[in-house]
Amino acid sequence: MDAKDIDALLPQTQCQECGYAACLPYAEAIARGEVDIARCAPGGIETLEALAQLMGVDATPYKVEVQQRYRPPSVAVIDEAYCIGCLKCIAACPVDAIVGSAKMMHTVLPDICTGCELCLLPCPTDCISMVAAASEKIVQADEARRHYEAKNERLHKARETKKVNAPDSIAAQLDYIEAARLRVLAKKGKPHVSK
Ligand code: SF4
Ligand code: SF4
Ligand code: SF4
Repeated sequence: MDAKDIDALLPQTQCQECGYAACLPYAEAIARGEVDIARCAPGGIETLEALAQLMGVDATPYKVEVQQRYRPPSVAVIDEAYCIGCLKCIAACPVDAIVGSAKMMHTVLPDICTGCELCLLPCPTDCISMVAAASEKIVQADEARRHYEAKNERLHKARETKKVNAPDSIAAQLDYIEAARLRVLAKKGKPHVSK
């Protein structure tokens, strides 16, 4: 089975909840016969049944597990009052759905956000939350795949030209982030917990 045919059935949320780095690596693992078809939480029963039909297997034994894991569509929202412009969410977002520059507040583009939740954990001020996606705002899989591929291509080119991961700028950025995070925690009245 061609992994591209399997990937075409996945929702392209790129959330890593299947245990793989993105939708395509999960599709490749299914194609190699290494993993079952019940790992895609955002895909739900619809994706399970499509995969089962393609692979010629019975979906029934997986249905309860998939229903339990199902996560309805959502989008991220940034509370700009607490955003310190650290760029961590931009680095984490697999589809470039966040705009903003260093030390400036950031905003999520709801038409591009897949609801993957990968930006939540890196945010040092916990100012990102998830809300239910309006049905007309749910990003289509083909569009999400294009955004994901475009980001990977951009990162690849940046690494080739050594514009990312410069040690000096990372150390300075981490110092800035920690100082800003402590300022926000003080503003929120929270104790200084390590992140
Ligand atoms: S949407 Fe998430 S869980 Fe489903 S295949 Fe893609 S990365 Fe894996
Ligand atoms: S904004 Fe957050 S939730 Fe939305 S796609 Fe980017 S990382 Fe995922
Ligand atoms: S990770 Fe949080 S604080 Fe940093 S830029 Fe993103 S939203 Fe703002």
